[in-house]
Amino acid sequence: MPDVRQSGAMGEAFVMDGGGIERLAAHLLAEGRSVVAPVARDGAVVYDAIEDPAEIARGVRIDSRPGHYRMERDGTAWFDHVIGPTPWKRFLHPPRETLYSMTRSDDGIEVEATPLPQASFAFLGVRPCDLAAIGVLDRVMTGGAHPDPRYAARRNGTLIIAVNCRVSAETCFCASMGSGPRADAGYDLALSELGTGAQTRFLIEVGSAAGSALLEALDVAPATEADLAEARWNAAAAADAQTRAIETEGLARDIRAAAEHPHWDEVATRCLNCTNCTMVCPTCFCSTTVEVSDLTGAHAERQQRWDSCFNVGFSHLHGGAVRQSGRARYRQWLTHKLSTWEDQFGELGCTGCGRCIAWCPVGIDITEEAASLRRTEP
Ligand code: SF4
Ligand code: SF4
Repeated sequence: MPDVRQSGAMGEAFVMDGGGIERLAAHLLAEGRSVVAPVARDGAVVYDAIEDPAEIARGVRIDSRPGHYRMERDGTAWFDHVIGPTPWKRFLHPPRETLYSMTRSDDGIEVEATPLPQASFAFLGVRPCDLAAIGVLDRVMTGGAHPDPRYAARRNGTLIIAVNCRVSAETCFCASMGSGPRADAGYDLALSELGTGAQTRFLIEVGSAAGSALLEALDVAPATEADLAEARWNAAAAADAQTRAIETEGLARDIRAAAEHPHWDEVATRCLNCTNCTMVCPTCFCSTTVEVSDLTGAHAERQQRWDSCFNVGFSHLHGGAVRQSGRARYRQWLTHKLSTWEDQFGELGCTGCGRCIAWCPVGIDITEEAASLRRTEP
């Protein structure tokens, strides 16, 4: 086994056998990290904290189409299940958290801020599109004049083990968005599953000093040219298999110009305003704050909760909601993702993960809607 510290392994590539995934997870758990990995549960591959490497989803595939998601048991591959409904934002920017609490006593009201989280996550199995989404969220949550300290505290302690894709779901379009199926930065380690059955092994690319240090816990050997070529071929095959795409050239301009396009009326006849697309989207970050109190009135909390631009109350200003119609709310969502996000943050707000297509109950497809909005003839 090479001495990766002495050889300076960042940017270098190694291989380990298929069982190395369980050794890696066991090592991260032994370090005291909260290891979040894909788990097969309730008919879907979800990301959740594991306590045992045996919990990692293996030998499952997904069939994902507009308004459709099915998980099937098939084979022994570790990571051919692409993505499930869980966005990684769930762990960095939780759906609900208490910002501070207030307790009334005879001496008055005591206000106590919730301490910053002490999380030490290891995300195991982050797909390239989701790695790009974490990068987008980083810029939103920590890049401006008012960074979110709770997000930053969680993110700073997070180790990322990415997994490149060799299979695409029918809903994937990361290749057109430039975010996959192969990660090129932003990870501590990037894994590519090679071979099948007893021949299964993993190519490991090192992206940081923390990732390099992890190699000491694994039984790795230097990668060969054949290993590297197989990983490149697999990612190219996953890209070639994608049937959906969004042409990003001029996209922000075209969507801005489509503000009064008649197609918004057509989408509005199908959209249920259910908020599913915003809940599963790995880059949607909007939240609201609410005060909740116990029945005695002695204790209250200010909570932050995920919100959605599909909720009428989300745009409530003095006098009422600005976006009263479903048409206006769908237009807001898609226009922000594919146009005005670029004005705010210098990039698009969509990474092509396809979750919003699969988990929309009526199968609304952002790639088709964007194409329709660019057509001048109805
Ligand atoms: S808009 Fe849809 S495809 Fe794009 S990142 Fe969000 S969930 Fe994924
Ligand atoms: S586009 Fe689909 S998922 Fe999103 S709010 Fe409308 S019906 Fe729900």
